[in-house]
Formats: sequence, C-alpha cells, structure tokens
Amino acid sequence: MKEGTKMQFDILTLFPEMFETLNHSILEKAQEKDLIKINIVNIRDFSENKHKKVDDTPYGGGAGMVIMPDVVKKAYNSVQTSKSKVIYMSPQGKLLNQKKVEQLSKQEHLIILCGHYEGIDQRVLDEIVDEEISIGDYVLTGGELPAMVLIDSISRYVEGVLNEESTKEESFSHGLLEYPQYTRPEIYENIKVPEVLLSGHHENIDKWRKEQSLKNTYIKRPDLLKKYKLTKQEQEILEKIKRSATTRKAPLKKRRRR
Ligand code: SAM
Repeated sequence: MKEGTKMQFDILTLFPEMFETLNHSILEKAQEKDLIKINIVNIRDFSENKHKKVDDTPYGGGAGMVIMPDVVKKAYNSVQTSKSKVIYMSPQGKLLNQKKVEQLSKQEHLIILCGHYEGIDQRVLDEIVDEEISIGDYVLTGGELPAMVLIDSISRYVEGVLNEESTKEESFSHGLLEYPQYTRPEIYENIKVPEVLLSGHHENIDKWRKEQSLKNTYIKRPDLLKKYKLTKQEQEILEKIKRSATTRKAPLKKRRRR
C-alpha cells in the first residue's frame, strides 16, 4: 500500500468494466490524492481452463450457474495480506447501515467479493469470508452494484476524502435524518428561504435545524425515533411537532405548497 493511502479496496469480480463508475467526482479525487486505492481483480484471469470457464451447474440440480471455488481462492490469494478483511456481497448478509459503514472505514484493507449468477461455491466462502453484507432485502444479478455502494459509503468516512463536517451532521450520523438544505437564490418561484437561515444567529439556526431534523424523521422515518434516545428538550420539540397540523403525512409536492 502506498504511503498516505488510508484504505485499499481489492474487488474480486467477473465484471471489472462495471467499476468504471467509481472513477468520477469525489471518489476520482480521492484516488488521485491516493487517499483510497481501488484495485480490480478479474476472477476469470485465474481460470486455468482453456476457455477461461469459471462457473458450472449446481450439484443437486436447479437453475443457473455457480462460480467455482478454485478461481475465487486464487484471486483472493493474489491480493490477501495479514491486514485484509474479506467481505462477500450477498443478499443473505447483514443489512448495511451507517454504523457498519463507519466501522469498516477504520480498516486498512478490504477485499470485496462479488458473486454473480446463482452465487459462489459455499466451500470457498466458508474458507475466506469474514463477513457477508447485503444492501437490501431484494436480489440483484450480481455483487458489483452492492460493492460500489459499499465502497462509496465507506470512502466518505476515510480521512481527507470529505470535509469532516459533511459526515458529522448528515442523515443517520446521530440516529436522525438531516434537516432540509437551501441555497441561492433567496427567493425561488416566490418561495423564500426560511428567515432564520438568513439571520446569521447561530444558536437560532442550530435550534431550527434540530427541530427540522426531528420533524423530518418523524414524518419520513418514525421507526428511527424508536431507537433514538431523545433529550428532554428534544422530547418537548417532538411533542410540539406531533401536535402541529403541518406534520400530517402528505406527498412531498403537497407538503411544499402548505
Ligand atoms: N442465489 C442467491 C441467493 O438466493 O441468496 C442469490 C444470488 S444473486 C442472483 C448473485 C449475486 O449477487 C450474489 O452472489 C451476491 O454477490 C449479489 N447480490 C444480489 N443481491 C444482493 C444484495 N441485496 N446485497 C448484496 N449482494 C447481492
């Protein structure tokens, strides 16, 4: 790993071209600055079969193809070090959330294994995988998109990739959703930016943001409030929000017109 690089991702995949998506915007800059390194390993390169075959039909019958264990093991051996943690992207894994993202951002080297077709032979998974992670309770065609979701979310927490403030305040970082954001122009289609944000009064702005954050969470993700430990002041604000008629659940467009 290069000096200065804080996180090395090695992706084991059958579809390397898909990862071009990571070479844009913030992740492109993070790679240029060597803060993160994304290395893509084509599992197919490790096939010794003359047709570069990497999969076969499942024992016991059934639809689809299963990726064979030996090619995966060889791909893994080509990048594994004493610091590696191996993650298999799988719909059977633990659901990814912000806490897990933050935890993983503390690692130095992640090897991310992407399945495809019906998946990967269980024997090599049992041998090399430390953790299975799912990005949601639905099944995708491959682990490539989930791997990109994981890399993007983790990279944001790698020191130097973002301004530290950006990750401190945003949705989920404290268990609540973020407050609404506004920028120029001050008046857009006759709708003015909330006055308090123009006041320069930091205490009032913080108070307003806290209220909005609680309100957003109450309206959009009330389940999060069940897990969140409210302070006495937050409890009072929430009671006020609950009593207020404007918090009735309505489609975004309608809510805006109120
Ligand atoms: N037969 C597998 C099952 O029922 O559990 C599903 C295989 S899926 C079609 C092919 C690959 O896509 C998986 O091996 C995994 O790498 C990836 N994948 C699919 N859905 C995923 C999800 N929700 N989260 C993470 N990876 C997923």
